[in-house]
Amino acid sequence: MKNVEIINKKPVAAGLVDYEKTHKEFSWEIIKREFDIDDDKVNIAYEAIDKHAKTWRKNKVALYWEGADGTCQKYTFLEMKKLSDKCANMLRALGVKRGDRVFIFLPRLPELYIGMVAIAKLGAIAGPMFSAFGPDAVRDRLQNSEAKVLITTPELKERVDAVLWELPKLEHIVLVNHKEDEELEEGNVCYKTLMRDASDIFEMEWVKLEDPLYILYTSGTTGRPKGVTHVHNDMVSHYITTQWVLDLRDDDVYWCTADPGWVTGTVYGLWGPWLNGISFYVFDGRFDAATWYEIIQNYKVTVWYTAPTALRMLMKAGDDLVKEYDLSSLRYVCSVGEPLNPEVIRWGLKVYGLPIHDNWWQTETGSIMIANYPCLPIKPGSMGKPFPGIEAAIIDGTGSKLSAGQHGLLALKPGWPSMLRAVWGDEKRFKEYFNINGWYATGDTAYKDEDGYFWFVGRADDVINTSGHRVGPFEVESALLEHRAVAESGVIGKPDAERGEIIKAFIVLREGYKPSHELEEELKIFIRHRLAAHAYPKEIEFCANLPKTRSGKIMRRLLKAKDLGLPTGDISTLED
Ligand code: AMP
Repeated sequence: MKNVEIINKKPVAAGLVDYEKTHKEFSWEIIKREFDIDDDKVNIAYEAIDKHAKTWRKNKVALYWEGADGTCQKYTFLEMKKLSDKCANMLRALGVKRGDRVFIFLPRLPELYIGMVAIAKLGAIAGPMFSAFGPDAVRDRLQNSEAKVLITTPELKERVDAVLWELPKLEHIVLVNHKEDEELEEGNVCYKTLMRDASDIFEMEWVKLEDPLYILYTSGTTGRPKGVTHVHNDMVSHYITTQWVLDLRDDDVYWCTADPGWVTGTVYGLWGPWLNGISFYVFDGRFDAATWYEIIQNYKVTVWYTAPTALRMLMKAGDDLVKEYDLSSLRYVCSVGEPLNPEVIRWGLKVYGLPIHDNWWQTETGSIMIANYPCLPIKPGSMGKPFPGIEAAIIDGTGSKLSAGQHGLLALKPGWPSMLRAVWGDEKRFKEYFNINGWYATGDTAYKDEDGYFWFVGRADDVINTSGHRVGPFEVESALLEHRAVAESGVIGKPDAERGEIIKAFIVLREGYKPSHELEEELKIFIRHRLAAHAYPKEIEFCANLPKTRSGKIMRRLLKAKDLGLPTGDISTLED
């Protein structure tokens, strides 16, 4: 095995101080006892908000919020309790009941956070959607979940209007930032008006630990996005991973840069910190290196959870910029979502004086599974070690464990509290995760070294990871086919120094259309508008045909190999 560099600059850990001992003695039952809950009478919203509103934390800030225009707001735990009570009463009056799906399509406004808590209080199921989604992505999610209510803004609603006729189950649209003197269309209601009239005392809907809490849609290789469904029981995992991996404590000001439309933003940008009574900061603006440093300086951020693409962009912005800000409040930095380059960790150590702690998990796992902990040395490039209570292994296609250093499938032993409980409405796709001898198959390939550190190798399938966002090639291909000029398309992820991967589309045009720069631009805009801003192909190549199997499936692996000049491997299934 190659010699690896080790960073031994360990911060003073607040939570996990002895990894090996904790790993040996760990039990989820013991962690669960910290909640003092009854399996049939729980609610994550009580544990995350209402409970704190009864203690000294009631006047503690739960949320520091800053808009793109510099507007600042803050909410204490008591204010959050009252506002989420009001919002829950408002939704109840609209007919929302336990088990109903309420989707949120909002920028990172305070109402997004209030709404998520309110939906949980009702025992309803929340579906946060990334605000960059276009009409197709929104339709897929609302249609599949049969959402009853949607909370959005008048601007974002325009994207929903285009597909409204395809959503017969949607009964109400709640409009945040609607101007009260403007007329409302049928089925639309004004958030502000209804909130003003709603009572701030809500009778909590107690649910079972196994009742669904939220659905987040995520991409696979084929088919429409999967509605990964999580339950209230997830809170046991949220709570303890937040303490031991993010190392949060009561006096922290924590900033998670992820949007709640992605799992990191829902779990560690909302539930995890609030279950621990932590104050966090939210910025509803775009990435800008100087602005980000200003945030850390102004809010005295102590713990920062971000992503490799952002860190690479900060690195590009240069060392001198860092020197213009006082970042001395920072004590702990974590990263997730894509491979974190050792170079970035070394740079972080130089300019921030802190090592960056990479960790690995997925929408389906519901909480961090493999991590670099404050109490362990970091091997730059490694995702770290499994969380106590998690059995991770490298297996072959039959489920046999491989030995140290061998590349294979990254798999987890099922049964941790935050594991996905269903793919909404699709039992078959849910079961597919457990096809290899009872293991949960992650879809990633990796290897484990002699010291038990896990190293990411790649995806075992065609799923693309661009700037930490998971994109299914099938979704982009389907959206491209809706354009009148496109006869066929094949979509791959192409390695990119800044974004990890970019999306590249190979396109066969219909008769009568000719390749041109204008058409290329038109197709890019088409996908941005229909699907999502992050999911459009940055590169387009027009071709006469696509490599296909004899059964007609596009061989993306071959497109990728040819594009990158790599060996094409087995092509025996290629059509003539
Ligand atoms: P998502 O479900 O959208 O959060 O995407 C999960 C996928 O992102 C994983 O299956 C990995 O392919 C990738 N991923 C997440 N964290 C890491 C990491 N620390 N290193 C490498 N890849 C990661």
